[in-house]
Amino acid sequence: HHHQAMKHQHVIEREQQSLMQTYKRLPIAIDRAEGCRIIDVDGNVYLDFLGGIAVNALGHSHPRVVEAVTHQARRYMHVSNFFYQDVQVELAEKLKSISGFDRVFFSNSGAEAIEAAMKLARRRGSRTGAYDIVGFTGGFHGRTYAPLSIMDKPLYKEGMGPFLPNTMVLPYNDVDALESRVDEHTCAVVLEFVQGEGGIAEASKEFVDAIMAARERYGFLLIADEVQTGVGRTGDFFAFQHYGIRPDIVAVAKSMGGGLPLGGILTTNDVAALLERGMHGTTYGGNAVACAAGSVVVQEVMDGLLEHVRSIGAYLHSALMHLAATYPQRIREIRGRGCMQGVVLNEEAAPLVAALLDRRVIANATAGNVIRIVPPYVITRDDVDTFVAALDEVLRG
Ligand code: PLP
Repeated sequence: HHHQAMKHQHVIEREQQSLMQTYKRLPIAIDRAEGCRIIDVDGNVYLDFLGGIAVNALGHSHPRVVEAVTHQARRYMHVSNFFYQDVQVELAEKLKSISGFDRVFFSNSGAEAIEAAMKLARRRGSRTGAYDIVGFTGGFHGRTYAPLSIMDKPLYKEGMGPFLPNTMVLPYNDVDALESRVDEHTCAVVLEFVQGEGGIAEASKEFVDAIMAARERYGFLLIADEVQTGVGRTGDFFAFQHYGIRPDIVAVAKSMGGGLPLGGILTTNDVAALLERGMHGTTYGGNAVACAAGSVVVQEVMDGLLEHVRSIGAYLHSALMHLAATYPQRIREIRGRGCMQGVVLNEEAAPLVAALLDRRVIANATAGNVIRIVPPYVITRDDVDTFVAALDEVLRG
C-alpha cells in the first residue's frame, strides 16, 4: 500500500517536471476506469459524473467499444484519407439517417469541427461579401483561432490576439443585440443550444426564434455547436431538436468517439458542395479506429440509450430539485436536462466540487458558480442516489 501511495505522488511530481502546466488537474493519478467508475493508482474508486468532460457516453471501456476498437486495430488503424474506408462510410450513413442531413466531414476534435464550419460559412459568404461570424457570451467552441475568435472568456484569449477579423461576440439570449448586429454582412451564427462551459445555460425559445427569423431575412448559416450536447446527451439526439428548428451545419465531437478523438460536421448537399476536392482536410480526420468506436456509440444511443438518458435525466433532475428546495439559500437554480445538468449556486462551485472529491465523487465546477453534471449515459438510479447523497452531505456540512 505504501508503495502504491508513492506511485501516486511520483506520477504527479513527474507530470509537474515534464508536461506544460496548462491544466488544473484533479489530485488523482489514474490506474483504470470501467463503466461509471474511475480507479486511482492507490485503488480508490470514484463515481465519475464528469465522464471525461462529457465524452464517455457509454461509460469507460464499454465492452462493445473495446471489441470494435480491437477488431479495427487488427484490420488496420490508419491509412489516410487517400483511401475509401468502410468504417467512415458506416458511421456517416448512421449519422445521416438519424439527422436527415446529406453529408458528413470528419475531424479529430470539436475545435476542428467548428473550424471547418466557419470556413464553409466564409467561403459561402465570400460570394456576396458577407464575412461576419457571430458567437455569444459564455460560449465555448474550442482553442484554435477561429473558435476562439467568437468566444469572450478573457483567460482563453489574453495576449493571444489578434484574432480573426469580422468576428463578434454578442450577449447570449439577447434578442435586441442580435437584431441590431446581425445583417446582410453576417455569414454565420454559431450557437450552443445549451452552453456547456457556460454553465448549462439554455438558449431561450424567443432567442432561437429571433435567430431563425434573421437567418430567413439575411441568409446566413446557422451553425449548431453540438460538440457537448450532441449524440444524445440532452435526451434528444441533438439539442436543436428540442426547439423544432433545423440548423445548416451541426458540429459534433466528444461523445461520438466513445473515448477516441473524433469530431465532425453534418450538413446539406448545397453547403457541402462549397468545398471542392483538396480545399479542406486533415490527416487523421475520420480515423478508422475512432470511427469504429463511433459507430458503436451511435448504435447504442439509438438502440434504447436515448430513452434511458431521458428517464435517468428526469430522475436526476427531480433529485436535484429536491436538494434545491432543501437548500434554497445556497442553490439558485437547476438547469439542463438528460445527462447535462447544472446546479447553479449562490457561491463558488469549486470548494463544493473539492468536497465531493473527498467523498470520491467527481463532478466539475464551471462558470464560477455552477456544478456541471455530465455523467456517462449509462448511470443507474443507484449512481444518481450516491451522487445526490454526497452533494447533500457537502451542502449540509
Ligand atoms: N464546442 C463545445 C460546445 C465544447 O464543449 C467543446 C469542448 O469542450 C468544444 C467545442 C471544443 O472541442 P475540443 O476540445 O474537442 O476541441
